[in-house]
Amino acid sequence: MYKGIGASAGIGIGKVVVIKEQELNYTKTTIEDTEAEKKRLSDAIEVFIEKTTQMVEAMKVTAGEQESEILEGHILMIQDPAITEQIEAKIDGEKINAEAAVEEACDFFAQIFSMAEDELTQQRASDLGDIKTRLIKILLGIEDVDISAVPAGTVLVAEDLTPSMTAGINPDNVEGVLTEIGGKTSHSAIICRSMEIPAVLSIENITSIVQDGDEVVLDGATGEAYVKPEASIVEEYKEKKAKFLEEKAALAKFVGKPSQTADGHVVELVANIGGPDEAAGVLEKDGEGVGLFRTEFLFMESNDVPSEESQFEAYKKVAETLEGKPVIIRTLDIGGDKALPYLGLPTEENPFLGFRAVRFCLQRPEIYKPQLRALLRASAFGKIRIMVPLVTCVDELRAVKALIEEIKGELDAEGIAYDKDIEVGVMMETAAASLIADILAKEADFFSIGTNDLTGYTMAADRGNPDVAYLYSAYNPAVLRSIKNIIGAANKEGIMAGMCGEAASDPLLVPVLLAFGLNEFSVSATAILATRKVMSLWTMDECKALADEVMQLETEKEVKELLQERARS
Ligand code: PEP
Ligand code: MG
Repeated sequence: MYKGIGASAGIGIGKVVVIKEQELNYTKTTIEDTEAEKKRLSDAIEVFIEKTTQMVEAMKVTAGEQESEILEGHILMIQDPAITEQIEAKIDGEKINAEAAVEEACDFFAQIFSMAEDELTQQRASDLGDIKTRLIKILLGIEDVDISAVPAGTVLVAEDLTPSMTAGINPDNVEGVLTEIGGKTSHSAIICRSMEIPAVLSIENITSIVQDGDEVVLDGATGEAYVKPEASIVEEYKEKKAKFLEEKAALAKFVGKPSQTADGHVVELVANIGGPDEAAGVLEKDGEGVGLFRTEFLFMESNDVPSEESQFEAYKKVAETLEGKPVIIRTLDIGGDKALPYLGLPTEENPFLGFRAVRFCLQRPEIYKPQLRALLRASAFGKIRIMVPLVTCVDELRAVKALIEEIKGELDAEGIAYDKDIEVGVMMETAAASLIADILAKEADFFSIGTNDLTGYTMAADRGNPDVAYLYSAYNPAVLRSIKNIIGAANKEGIMAGMCGEAASDPLLVPVLLAFGLNEFSVSATAILATRKVMSLWTMDECKALADEVMQLETEKEVKELLQERARS
């Protein structure tokens, strides 16, 4: 058995086709006629753009609009004067042939990009590698590898699956993908997921281990792959595959359906995202909005505090993508386990009890105000709601609201549009917030329960510490009472009671949360349909009866066992 990174769920069983890139054999030569060489280059760039445009169109159909943007990016990069001028300067100055000039210039920029700390810029280095290879191939007259012609039942094996290669994939014929490099967020992973092709990436030397025609089975969820497996393994994976497809088909029935119980009690089912690029995926998975946009990733991906303008663009993109559906954006939740090295904050003895989230933001208006301004400006382009993390007292909510009012005044004076009725809500994730839920509910426009932290702060157990993991569970009566109290307070004041912690998609807890009166469930995009299905299996009376029983239990173990016993699927 070989183990790699499970990057696209599903079971693949098929015969190997190894994709080997042709060697780019050329020699670096001195040329006399630099003008003719530059003409060769510009002709090649023209062909590159033409071919890539065709790939973009093909990819829109096979992988989707969003994924095709990766290749559209290649067109923009090759048109970037910084790159083309560098290649031409090498031809003019060093009098070298176009192939060598392309290689040296692309390597130069790729090296700069690969040194960046954020993943997106690093990704551009691998894009440049792809662009370089294809441009040199065009100059040498070498045809691209044509993946579109592989027979049905193929498992593609390659060192890496570049965006230009994936453009040719016919998902009907490709059972799976195995590569030597790449991870969950690499382009190959994103594209395989959108085409629903099972993929295991980063298996060392896999292109040398297998040969064309070998039988392989792979599990894109666990990252396991077998080469020339025994018959019993093939049988086991055939069964796994049938089960996976059956579950997938059963969930497909819930696309476009309301999120409701068997007796028609409707709730909102939205998604958690970490960046603007994930917004389109929410709609693809039939999410009804965004219940949590964790903005700290924008801050963590960059080497400095992102500007108001770049934040505005990010928030606006999400708001526009969601086309008027609600988008809850959480303000900077930094500290605890999420460090921002460039802020140079001192190390704390108890970071989870320290200077983090709203506490930090209120002390650092030069960082917080641009974020709030960006959020308000973006609110003119969709239905944005602002959410404040780690609130422990009503003063914090009041202080944030006062800051928002101040910024609204500034925007009015500058004639900049924003949503005058923008809602400001509280992330309910501390024991303190839960205990004053009645007070907060009078001044907040909505609640969203962050059970990940609420469990930790209620049980005084760190979510990452294995020694106290037995305490870190939302099934604890203490956590359930806290959740019930928060939802009750929101219901009483008539404000939305949402939940964006992991518990919202726990199939065992969903009926209990419905019984408590939760109005909004925010889950990862991939859990939307499964959560909608669970909701549909219960009537509200059944949910309430279950919750009544659960709330009489005294231990976490009893709660978990009862919920497991009653689980429906
Ligand atoms: C939570 O605490 O439940 C939550 C959703 O936020 P995070 O996991 O980002 O702390
Ligand atoms: Mg939290």
